[in-house]
Amino acid sequence: MSEYGITSRAKDFSQWYLDIVLQAELADYSPVRGCMVIRPNGYALWERMQRALDEMIKATGHRNAYFPLFIPESFLKKEAEHVEGFAPECAVVTIGGGARLEEPLMVRPTSETIIYHMYAKWIKSYRDLPLLINQWANVVRWEMRTRLFLRTTEFLWQEGHTAHATPEEAEEETRRMLGVYRDFAEQWMAMPVYLGRKTDREKFAGALRTYSIEAFMQDGRALQAGTSHNLGDNFARAFEVKFQDEQQQWRYCWQTSWGVSTRLIGALIMAHSDDQGLVLPPRLAPLELVVVPIWRSDEERGRVLAYIDEIAGPLRGRYRLHVDDREQFKPGWKYSEWELKGVPLRLEVGPRDVEKQGAVLVRRDTRAKAMLARGEIAAGIDAALAAMQRELFERALERRQGRTRQVGDYAEFRRLLEGDNYFVWAPWCGASACEERVAEETKATIRTVPFEESQGFSTPGAPPPEKGSCLACGEPSPRAVLWAKAY
Ligand SMILES: [Zn+2]
Repeated sequence: MSEYGITSRAKDFSQWYLDIVLQAELADYSPVRGCMVIRPNGYALWERMQRALDEMIKATGHRNAYFPLFIPESFLKKEAEHVEGFAPECAVVTIGGGARLEEPLMVRPTSETIIYHMYAKWIKSYRDLPLLINQWANVVRWEMRTRLFLRTTEFLWQEGHTAHATPEEAEEETRRMLGVYRDFAEQWMAMPVYLGRKTDREKFAGALRTYSIEAFMQDGRALQAGTSHNLGDNFARAFEVKFQDEQQQWRYCWQTSWGVSTRLIGALIMAHSDDQGLVLPPRLAPLELVVVPIWRSDEERGRVLAYIDEIAGPLRGRYRLHVDDREQFKPGWKYSEWELKGVPLRLEVGPRDVEKQGAVLVRRDTRAKAMLARGEIAAGIDAALAAMQRELFERALERRQGRTRQVGDYAEFRRLLEGDNYFVWAPWCGASACEERVAEETKATIRTVPFEESQGFSTPGAPPPEKGSCLACGEPSPRAVLWAKAY
């Protein structure tokens, strides 16, 4: 237990996770079961993620729009697999303004149907393509077992929806956005991911194929952190999304959809945080730096704060920083609080630092201390932020490597996953029945089927293709796939 009463990861990982979410004031339980209240600390983090990702989505040619929360029930039924996948978890509105509605309205679980109804109206010609739209919104899925950020009945996300003239363009778009998610996960979240294809059992309801990025959590479980779906012409046929080509022939569009959600906040916590609280990659941290003054008398307090005013002035425009000059708390108490909340750097300034014209810089992740002269403070902060961003990624990668195994037979696979959680590369024949059986017996599912090099998109870190025998049935397997227990 830390002084904040955070359970250690070794003792109970899932309690540790909840302790951090609640005590770092990221989120709280709502009076409606399964819903969550995102508190200002959590929302500031979401805003940082949203801003970075929004720029990346716009830089790849997409524009934002907003579609309604309610979807006519009949829309959902137009695509057979889609309704089968989503209807059981839909919230349905049957009464509005005191009167029974003629047609019930679904609260959106995802927006393909209503968006493609509009696309059918807007797209007339090949000149209208590609149509590249993203929306930031909330969605509702009636979950039975919920956990703050990871699985909640209502959550926030972005969902991109595109329409193209050819299947090749749609496939290219599906992979492009998977690449955007990988870049965001690795460069902003400092979280290494495997990218690849989902099996039919795990793919999006109504999609031709689904790609995902899969992240490693510190307890050895996988977390699906983003998905990108090639919808083929399934929805275009259901919603009559058609265009006239250059020869005035009517053709169905080829579509994609892709999304990430507030689940990423859960991933971020479980990828980097420690027993003292939240650890955040500097690029996403709402505050990069907190300045903590140290004094024992009023006279010292005046001198220290005047000095901080001088040094913090030029830093304010450069960094997201806060000076914690609260009088009722001792410095040690403040240190623990800011560590719990995950501020990457702390600058300690006491009377001796004023005399020496310097300050002490402390990193949240390693607690490494650096004595900096006054003229070196900005350079010291820059270097520490960059090093922390890079090292968080490296440590996450090392942890993943340390918990990754490659096995060829089922007995070893079961033994491994009985005692603990691992990422396991193991052979599979391609049959859903085999995946089902292994999942039932071990709780591990196929997280990703790696891209072949020839598919123009590789899966770094995956073992090279090697023939083997399927874990479940012994039939030939062209290459190993990634198995893990997942959130
Ligand atoms: Zn098999």
